[in-house]
Amino acid sequence: MSKVMRFSREYKPVSTVVNVNNVKIGGKFFAIAAGPCAIESPEQYIETAKIVKKAGANIIRGSVFKPRTSPYSFQGLGREGLKLIKDLGEDLDIATVTEVMDPRDIKITANHVDIIQIGARNMQNYDLLKEASKSDVPIILKRGLSATIDEWLYAAEYLMVEGNENIILCERGIRTFSTTTRNTLDLSIIPLLKMRTHLPIIVDPSHATGNRDLIAPVSKAAIVSNADGILIEVHYNPDAAKCDGAQSLPPEMFFELIEQIKPILELEKKLVTGTTMNLEEVRRRINYVDEDIIDLIANRINLVPALIEIKSKNAIPVYQPERERQLSEKYLRLAKENDISPELIQKIFNLIITEMRSLQKQKIE
Ligand code: PEP
Ligand code: MN
Repeated sequence: MSKVMRFSREYKPVSTVVNVNNVKIGGKFFAIAAGPCAIESPEQYIETAKIVKKAGANIIRGSVFKPRTSPYSFQGLGREGLKLIKDLGEDLDIATVTEVMDPRDIKITANHVDIIQIGARNMQNYDLLKEASKSDVPIILKRGLSATIDEWLYAAEYLMVEGNENIILCERGIRTFSTTTRNTLDLSIIPLLKMRTHLPIIVDPSHATGNRDLIAPVSKAAIVSNADGILIEVHYNPDAAKCDGAQSLPPEMFFELIEQIKPILELEKKLVTGTTMNLEEVRRRINYVDEDIIDLIANRINLVPALIEIKSKNAIPVYQPERERQLSEKYLRLAKENDISPELIQKIFNLIITEMRSLQKQKIE
């Protein structure tokens, strides 16, 4: 029998929700990561980060180790820049992500950022993957320039072997014959991945297109394709950027993008966590939670027929005081763990259990 892979739905049927610094990614939670391609100076990084946070991003990107095609291009601030990221995360109270290229930088980077990124060029750098797998920080794993779905998923497996489940896949376009865009975005891989893996999948329209005018439409397409987030390059002055200026949004275009995607996120019932909410947003979330509560109660009630069948076959009474006592103990413990009043939980479960018992009695009698 073949081994069940940790990334697979077989291994874990429910979608993984990565939790990092007040931000949730996966399931119904949508991430908006934005910021400069490279951190060029404290001012450029901090000012851009403040802008994207204000607009509604919940993760700040910005790299200090840069994989550049030419050795003469700006290579990034290196380890020196890591402190800037840590300070910014703390000062703005926001999650941060940065890329690592060298296995020797994993540990120190993990101590300074919330999420590590493994870039497209390193997706199959197995020494890097192995070193990263020893860390328990969430990892964004970008798709290799010409990686197949299996190569990508198995690279994710490398990261998961030591038990880290906080892996986020990032589709950033692949190399094809077409040169009309920097890469060719493979949107259809998102629903396909959703069938094969429980891991969240985000999309990077900046590196996929190389063209800032395409970022908004492609972001919208990513949302309706069921992506769990977007990763976008924003620069407070893109024309002066040391790296990837043509695919970086200026502040006003980023604000516009957020306004444009809001109704689509609403339509897809996706939530962006870790940002300041207005009353309307809080109410929208309350409505979602209420709908979930009703769904869960329905799931519980739908178990009644199976329960009746087993109980009547085996002459088990509907009311079993010992079972109810055990359940009640468990609910009270969970109430405490979740900081909810035990009386409230007791009342709710009394109602649910009474209802289930009476449904069973009606059917059996
Ligand atoms: C990046 O996100 O800065 C980057 C280099 O992207 P990619 O690895 O997708 O080319
Ligand atoms: Mn870039």
